[in-house]
Amino acid sequence: MNTLSSRAKTGEGSIIIGKLDDFLSYARLSALWPMQFGLACCAIEMMGAWSSAYDIDRMGVIPRASPRQSDVIIIAGTVTFKMADRIRRLYEQMPEPRYVISMGSCSNCGGPYWEHGYHVVKGVDRIIPVDVYVPGCPPRPEALIGGFLQLQEKIRQESLLAPPHAVQRLMGENLKPLAGSEHSIG
Ligand code: SF4
Repeated sequence: MNTLSSRAKTGEGSIIIGKLDDFLSYARLSALWPMQFGLACCAIEMMGAWSSAYDIDRMGVIPRASPRQSDVIIIAGTVTFKMADRIRRLYEQMPEPRYVISMGSCSNCGGPYWEHGYHVVKGVDRIIPVDVYVPGCPPRPEALIGGFLQLQEKIRQESLLAPPHAVQRLMGENLKPLAGSEHSIG
């Protein structure tokens, strides 16, 4: 037993002993498939993260075009009331466990439209739960990569066997109505 443990510890052997939860978390955080949802200027910086200069693919972050194949959605840009329904619908089409990265000031809190933007939702977290906020106007691709590192750390701490966040979400506790809007999000 001592031999196995020391080999696993030093990486010399072919047997690794660990908790199933840890292996599952490691697999999930190493293969995040985001659905990109570019809404305004922040989307240009988001696209830059997949360029050869930043190469976010090396972290296992591979974009998908369908919410049904995605476990992360990146909300990059200005969330208008007109788009809110669509965002909520796409989020609900993603399988659990699912995550949200809010990229940029507009998505985080309304950004430059905070005071007078009658058409802008003052934070995407008013319609879907956000896991990581990436600050900036716009954030650079490095900041988005930093957001993914934060998300990976969050997933590392989670237990798939007892996912409190997923249960909360399924119960709809985090899905808030659109405050101050006559628009429906049903
Ligand atoms: Fe554009 Fe700034 Fe809003 Fe991003 S946060 S969408 S860069 S105005």
